[in-house]
Order: sequence, then C-alpha cells, then structure tokens
Amino acid sequence: VVEETGSTNADLLARAANFREPLTEPLLLVARSQTAGRGRAGRSWLSSSEGSLTFSLAWPFEGALTRLAGLPLAVGVALAETLERLGVQVGLKWPNDVLRDGDKLAGILIETQAAPGGGTWAVIGIGLNLLMPDELEARIGRNVASLPWLARMERDSLMAALLDGLAGCLREFERGGFPLFVARWNLRHAWQGEPVIVLDRGAVLHEGVAAGVDESGRLLLDTPAGRVAVLSGDVSLRMK
Ligand code: ATP
Repeated sequence: VVEETGSTNADLLARAANFREPLTEPLLLVARSQTAGRGRAGRSWLSSSEGSLTFSLAWPFEGALTRLAGLPLAVGVALAETLERLGVQVGLKWPNDVLRDGDKLAGILIETQAAPGGGTWAVIGIGLNLLMPDELEARIGRNVASLPWLARMERDSLMAALLDGLAGCLREFERGGFPLFVARWNLRHAWQGEPVIVLDRGAVLHEGVAAGVDESGRLLLDTPAGRVAVLSGDVSLRMK
C-alpha cells in the first residue's frame, strides 16, 4: 500500500517486466492517491484520495495472451458479484465498465506483460468511486456514479471483499476461461436490447442493437445486415 503514485498499473507493469524468474504469486498495489490514473487508449482515470479506491492486481497466467480473451469482462462480473454481496446492484457496459443507474461507477484496465517461461502477467487495474466531489465530477466532464454508503465501510474490509471476489473469479477464469462467465455477464448487461453505435477512434464502425456477448467476450450486435460480433480492441460503445 502506498500513499501516492502516478498509476498503480504502470508500477506493476514495470515490476512484472523486471521479473527474471518464472511466474509465481500475484502482486497487489493499492494507492491511497493516484495522480496519473490510466484508462484505455491513453484516456485518464481521475480519483480523489478520500473518495476512491484505486489498485492493481498483477496475476500470473500460464500460457499465451490468447488465453486471456474476455478477461476484462470476467473482472467486471467479479466486481459486480462482490458489490451485490455488499448490497449494491450494478450493471455492466461492454467492454469494461461497471455502471450504477446508467453512470460509470468503476473502471477496469487490463494491461499485459509477457513473463519468462512463456506465461503472461495480467495487470488488472481497478478504480472505484466511493465519494464523488463536484469538483472532480466537473473535471471528468460527465455524470458519474459513486457509493457514499460504502465509503463508510472500513477501507481494508472493502478491499478484502473485492480481492476475495476477484481472486475467486481469476481462479475460475484460469480453469475455464470466459465461457464460465458469459451468462453471468449477460445477466447484468446494462445496454441489452438498446440501439448502439461502436466507435473506432471517433469513426462509426457498426450500428445495431446490443444483444449481449459471446464466449470470447465479443459484443453481439443485431444490424440490418445480420448479427455481427465485435472485438473490443480500443473501440468504444455509445447509446444511439
Ligand atoms: P468510454 O467510456 O468513452 O466508452 P471507456 O469506458 O473505455 O471509454 P476507460 O478508458 O475505461 O473508458 O476510462 C476512461 C474514461 O472514464 C475517461 O475518458 C473518463 O470519461 C471516464 N472517467 C475518468 N475518471 C472517472 C471516474 N473516476 N469515474 C467515472 N468515470 C471516469
């Protein structure tokens, strides 16, 4: 646990890159305050030291990167199931957001690093809003969700609950991959049946009706030309 760092993901990726031994135990880094939090495609994750949980878990997976298809979605399921156990209902937005009442409550960023011996480190970064000061919401520039009543829970207990849920799901993922999570993800799909557009760096890639995800974590879209399956890559999803 550190008082302040730029990005917990950047720190753990650097650690993972320097490991010369084969994969061993997971590593966890919790920052009370994160000054340069990252999102996908160079976007930023903003947080406040009093009101956010920001941490990264580096998990050693055996085998190549291709085994990790759907991992960000499985982590979304892990967060959702843990929050539900704490009495909070959330929805999932493809590919990597946790929503509450339609607004973003938590972000997930997974970055990977090849490990000696052929394995892969998945560095799983999570930012969860507990309190959202107006000034921070203004800087983010859109409505966001927070969980003021969970902010009253002791931080360590909350972290322990999240880590338990996460570790359990990661072990499941190691055993069976994303197929074990498809139904659980689709159950919580916040935009099921909604008309959406898929953007790739601002350009419209697809338009259609969101119909859940498949066993590789691809978004299924019903378009006038039939059903398409969209790979996440760096694409973003918007309500039409
Ligand atoms: P998009 O939401 O545009 O589809 P994304 O979900 O992939 O993209 P990420 O890269 O996961 O977005 O997260 C970065 C984005 O999240 C930022 O561009 C900003 O809009 C938003 N954001 C940043 N900080 C917070 C926060 N604390 N709470 C909610 N949203 C945030």
